[in-house]
Amino acid sequence: MKASLWIPGLLMLAGVLAAGLSFASDTAQRREMLLREIREDVRQTAAYLGRERLNPSVLAALESVPRHELVPDDQRRYAYENRPLPIGYGQTISQPYIVAIMTELIEPEAGDVVLEVGTGSGYQAAVLAEIVERVCSLEIIPQLAKRSRADLDRLGYSNVRSRMGDGYYGWPECGPFDGIVVTAGASHVPPLLIEQLKPGGKLIIPVGSRFMTQQLLLVEKGEAGELRTRQVLPVRFVPLTGGH
Ligand code: SAM
Repeated sequence: MKASLWIPGLLMLAGVLAAGLSFASDTAQRREMLLREIREDVRQTAAYLGRERLNPSVLAALESVPRHELVPDDQRRYAYENRPLPIGYGQTISQPYIVAIMTELIEPEAGDVVLEVGTGSGYQAAVLAEIVERVCSLEIIPQLAKRSRADLDRLGYSNVRSRMGDGYYGWPECGPFDGIVVTAGASHVPPLLIEQLKPGGKLIIPVGSRFMTQQLLLVEKGEAGELRTRQVLPVRFVPLTGGH
């Protein structure tokens, strides 16, 4: 090949590589800023959360999950902003701070099995999967269940089991669960979820009116099956839908 053809080709390749590197370093910088913001939000809301800071395993999980890989292409540039984003079908990927505190409050541990209701984009499932042994996640909208499954496979989250289904009824074959995270607003705590929670387990769920703010509730099941419920803070989630 003539040198005159080589040079523009090499310049183009260098341009593509430079753009790729700058995207990667931009992403790393934005993710770092987001983590700083989450840590600050946790400090500001410590009185509600009952803690000043996130567990290192939760911070490490937030640092590892590529949120930009789990949002639609037109939302990628906003992926590291601390807010919910549209993911299609009238649904949203939750705000990173909310994902952080919901994960923190169930106190996940390495050997745990956790249920998520409302897979959505797969982001919360991926964050949990960085910490626990297995995540079981249910999504009621077939297209989202299919897309999140494909994305979780592409990113290598083989410890997430997910399927389409109404999470109001839980997933008994995948449990019992050390923790349950409900990522859609319900009018009440679904009784079958309590049943599928292990003694000593924790469930976190937004409860309240469909059209107004809800209260994030933390329900703890004691060793003898007794329940202790505490209101954490007001939140706003899309509604838990389904036949119930
Ligand atoms: N956890 C998601 C994430 O990280 O992207 C965000 C979830 S979005 C706020 C709530 C999700 O719950 C939606 O995808 C919605 O379709 C789903 N959903 C609503 N009702 C449900 C139900 N009864 N069972 C399962 N999923 C449900």
